[in-house]
Amino acid sequence: MQTYDNYISGEWLASVSTTPNRNPSNLADVIGEYAQADAEQAKGAIAAAAKAFPAWAMGSIQERANSLDKIGSEILARKDELGRLLSREEGKTLPEGVGEVTRAGQIFRFFAGEVVRMSGEKLASIRPGVEIEVTREPIGVIGIITPWNFPIAIPAWKIAPALAYGNTVVFKPADFVPGCAWALADIIARAGLPPGVFNLVMGRGSVVGETMVNHPSVAAISFTGSVSTGRGIAAKAIARMAKLQLEMGGKNPLVVLDDADLATAVNVAVQGAYYSTGQRCTASSRLIVTTGIHDRFVAALADKVKALKVDDALAQGTDIGPVVDQSQLDQDLSYLDIGRKEGATLVLGGERLKRQHDGYYLAPALFTEASNDMRISREEIFGPVASVIRAKDYDEALALANDTEFGLSTGIVTTSLKYASHFKRHAQAGMVMVNVPTAGVDYHVPFGGRKGSSYGPREQGRYAAEFFTIVKTAYTAP
Ligand code: NDP
Repeated sequence: MQTYDNYISGEWLASVSTTPNRNPSNLADVIGEYAQADAEQAKGAIAAAAKAFPAWAMGSIQERANSLDKIGSEILARKDELGRLLSREEGKTLPEGVGEVTRAGQIFRFFAGEVVRMSGEKLASIRPGVEIEVTREPIGVIGIITPWNFPIAIPAWKIAPALAYGNTVVFKPADFVPGCAWALADIIARAGLPPGVFNLVMGRGSVVGETMVNHPSVAAISFTGSVSTGRGIAAKAIARMAKLQLEMGGKNPLVVLDDADLATAVNVAVQGAYYSTGQRCTASSRLIVTTGIHDRFVAALADKVKALKVDDALAQGTDIGPVVDQSQLDQDLSYLDIGRKEGATLVLGGERLKRQHDGYYLAPALFTEASNDMRISREEIFGPVASVIRAKDYDEALALANDTEFGLSTGIVTTSLKYASHFKRHAQAGMVMVNVPTAGVDYHVPFGGRKGSSYGPREQGRYAAEFFTIVKTAYTAP
């Protein structure tokens, strides 16, 4: 069995222990043994990143751009192989895996361009003869902590801007998915960055993550993951006044109005609620449907969901792969029980499925007659489970959509320009989708939410500069 080491200060280093990376479609398939760092090794990576920072921050922007372009190009050239690895370790289907890898490559290429597009402002002063320049500078060592559900795209959309704007990086991936993280680090290691500019530290969140969050040399933490972990990180990082960016959960609504095109509504709901096994922070887990279309929508949706093929993520024709691991499966099953006890009707799915290999297979589940105050409508399940909530008209649907402590992505299916425009204006979420799924976003525009979903500046696109740089105002007299 191959062992994969951590990458610190330009060297591959073994750790005190390793952990197996298991395929959720076939539990007998172990992808490799991956390093588990202790706190000392994490501190070594932070020290290396701090040492590398001054030269990298002041270095050639052309070299920076070249390195990011090289990383993006290699990811794109190897998208099929890396997509296969992603699907094997995380369980999303092969087309989804290749799609995610493609996105990661595009993100590096986008930020390669951003390196040379950085600009500032020059203004006149209120004092005659004095000139003012407003510029952006890198902030230092960035601690990057990522979840398991997008094992290459989320690391890419944090690492690429961090490096592009002149910061150095300590990257801790989620424990379930070290394979893509290691493959990405291997590509970055060959892209010509000076030692210490990028470091990979695989290991437990409670050990490596905590060390990064608490360390005075880590200037900023960019985290994506659950609300509870995010809150814990915030308390510690803010106490030492580190810069902080948190992307957390969602309970995303999809409103379907009477005037919707039925086929569009069903496709948007199936894609948003069930693809990637529902394990997306942007998944549409609340389907809010007005009375006139409710029964037709539920019948057509149920037919479509029944026809979805749940199987090995790597098998041809699979629509829905397995759940990522036993603890996530337990969480999904427990919410199915909660929904039944709360009085929602489980019209479809929710049972464990047997396939050729032993894996975490779950039939996509659909509740109807749910109300917005049930736990299944308020708490993030993070699995292939959606609930239909009935609304009497558009106004009630909008109120229900906004009645949540989250605010990541929200959607509507309608043919009415009036309702589409009103919804875009009044939806309380970071991202609004009209006739497209709540999940699935472009790489060159801002990503992020409101309320309990996000904290700090947006990620991705040019807006990433807000988090990964700090503003300086310089005054010059002749
Ligand atoms: P977790 O919060 O459990 O873990 C996220 C990351 O934090 C992992 O790398 C984890 O390490 C690490 N971590 C755990 N404990 C600590 C700690 N005490 N200090 C520092 N780091 C720590 O989330 P999941 O990986 O389970 O991801 C699923 C969640 O992520 C869902 O709730 C989902 O909504 C959210 N998510 C949000 C997105 C968004 O952009 N809004 C996108 C994708 C997911 P380890 O793996 O070792 O435990």
